[in-house]
Amino acid sequence: MKIGIVGGGISGLTTAIALQQIGLEATVFDAAPKFEPVGAGLALAANAMKGFQKLGLSDQVVSKGNCLDGFHIFDHSGQLINRTDSRAMSAKYGLDNFVIHRASLHQVLLQHLSPERLQPNKRAVRTSSAGPGVTLHFQDQSEATFDHVLVADGINSALRQQLLPGTSPHYAGYTCWRGVIENPGYEANYASETWGKAGRVGWSPLAENKIYWFACINAPQNSPHMKAVQVDGL
Ligand SMILES: Cc1cc2nc3c(=O)[nH]c(=O)nc-3n(C[C@H](O)[C@H](O)[C@H](O)COP(=O)(O)OP(=O)(O)OC[C@H]3O[C@@H](n4cnc5c(N)ncnc54)[C@H](O)[C@@H]3O)c2cc1C
Repeated sequence: MKIGIVGGGISGLTTAIALQQIGLEATVFDAAPKFEPVGAGLALAANAMKGFQKLGLSDQVVSKGNCLDGFHIFDHSGQLINRTDSRAMSAKYGLDNFVIHRASLHQVLLQHLSPERLQPNKRAVRTSSAGPGVTLHFQDQSEATFDHVLVADGINSALRQQLLPGTSPHYAGYTCWRGVIENPGYEANYASETWGKAGRVGWSPLAENKIYWFACINAPQNSPHMKAVQVDGL
């Protein structure tokens, strides 16, 4: 059986590994010029960790990330509003509140797939199914036919628009910046968010003495003002 997967992000690669483990080879197509680990911090909840456990990947994933003690939420004046206790949550649901650099997770997943299964520089533009199977059409004018196609091309999925017309992501009301820095001396092992009227800011300690941070400012969708903000201006 021939299976094609559009999108070599976290879902596409994980699905390809799961299929491989039950004897089904899938080919993963990604629009990016290389299968290159990129991104910042990614929090994984207990359900995601259970998935990796089932695939026999959880030890490797856990070794690259950080199991946090909890998640604390503060108001604008620094008052604690709420907190979770990861030990209690993990005892009940399985390893919870785990944070990893997206690039590290992507790298772990890539190691489990052979290079011939990974096709970079292949932006899928549409599917068709005139005969048996499903044909993927790519921007470079090439095409490939499979028994099944799985679409995992992320939040701005072009194929979702084709397959499920009228669906679009729901704008959450804010613009967000994020990054990873060397830990300047933050010792607590919990993630935190501070909520204010204009937005919120948060951070999480990552493995290898790094900190993942993000800052969100409430703003209209596609605000030209927000798009023009440079790192130096923050
Ligand atoms: C480069 C990148 C960096 C990210 N960094 C972070 C982060 O730091 N923190 C965080 O919380 N989330 C981040 N995300 C989002 C997060 O990875 C996903 O929301 C989540 O993991 C779900 O994964 P996914 O596989 O559905 O989508 P994604 O991880 O978004 O992967 C989608 C993949 O599909 C590919 N693609 C898109 N369109 C096409 C097309 N037409 N044809 C072929 N391939 C296509 C993209 O290149 C991408 O590799 C990032 C996503 C990307 C793509």
